[in-house]
Amino acid sequence: MKSRKQQSATDPAGYISMIHVESDCIDHPVTRQILERVENIPIEVISSDNSSMPDLGIYPRSLTGGKRHLLLAKNRGKFFKPCPGTREYVCCDYQVLNIGMNCPMDCVYCILQAYLNNPYLSFYVNIEDLLTELSAAFAHDPKHFRRIGTGEFTDSLALDSLTGLSSVLVKFMRDKDSAVLELKTKSAVIENLEGLDHGGRTIVAWSLNSPAIMGKEEIRTASLEQRLAAAAKCASWGYRVAFHFDPIIYYAGWQQGYSETIDRLFATVPKEQIAWVSMGCLRYLPSLKKIAGQRFPQSRFFHEEFITGLDGKARYFRTLRVEMYKSLYKELIRYADPRTCIYLCMENNEIWQEVFGFIPEEVGGLPQMLDEAVRQVG
Ligand code: SF4
Repeated sequence: MKSRKQQSATDPAGYISMIHVESDCIDHPVTRQILERVENIPIEVISSDNSSMPDLGIYPRSLTGGKRHLLLAKNRGKFFKPCPGTREYVCCDYQVLNIGMNCPMDCVYCILQAYLNNPYLSFYVNIEDLLTELSAAFAHDPKHFRRIGTGEFTDSLALDSLTGLSSVLVKFMRDKDSAVLELKTKSAVIENLEGLDHGGRTIVAWSLNSPAIMGKEEIRTASLEQRLAAAAKCASWGYRVAFHFDPIIYYAGWQQGYSETIDRLFATVPKEQIAWVSMGCLRYLPSLKKIAGQRFPQSRFFHEEFITGLDGKARYFRTLRVEMYKSLYKELIRYADPRTCIYLCMENNEIWQEVFGFIPEEVGGLPQMLDEAVRQVG
């Protein structure tokens, strides 16, 4: 594991200004390792009910200050759960590994702003329980092929220079033939992935957007160049990689912006190592517009026209979604390896038909398409 000093200058973990440790975790080996990596950050031991965490003011403004405070705690619930997809849209049957909550980066559209019940970053140190739970799941149903991700409630690598979790997970997954781990990030914190015997069971994935959206709406994230350079490095270390165009956001000039990102992606990353590329237009819970509006009053994209989808989330009108997906897809297939699975995240069959000319059931379903891509690519 690299020392913190060797990590990249844009490491989002560098934004943390205070670490709080629940009293029953202070002697945990993972806590000790994290605290050894910390330089010049105050550390405070707090009661296990979090009652002595600092008051950061009124929600949602407290979310801004919360990104500077990392809480090390034990997960007393389950680590491993199916992704909360909805019945109304085509779901990819993802399994979520809950390693902590929130992240030090700050995207205007981040759904977590509307979900979180406290403003802090948290990381669960009882990794031994996480691995026990995973082993039990594999033993219980060894034939079930699983795609597992840690990037649902946080960013998979944003705190990795402190936690070192990626190398533990990559090594654990190395011989799990019936599963693949996806580490999804907007950072370029990949140093701990170098030199690991990953056995092809880990896919490193980046969320991408147009340069204009990345620059304005994704605060403290890595730039497009940094994300793509990190992806190319991971590919050179033998990892398969993946990309998520999500959320695709409408603005004047969107076509040119997304096209530029796609051009640069395929100019930098070897196409034969890309397992999948997803596309998902902006969708959000109604409460998010108010929260993000208060925190980022200069952002304009929530002021477009939206309809309420079957899952209660606001979405662009169907015609606009189809136009945007078709435009990106046309660019993607100019370059993509035919084995790369290009798919839509949380859309219905009608949209699939219009964009791709088929629906997932005709080719075995979306989970099957992704599982095939894992087996074929790389
Ligand atoms: S990187 Fe992901 S988890 Fe972090 S603020 Fe952005 S959307 Fe939210």
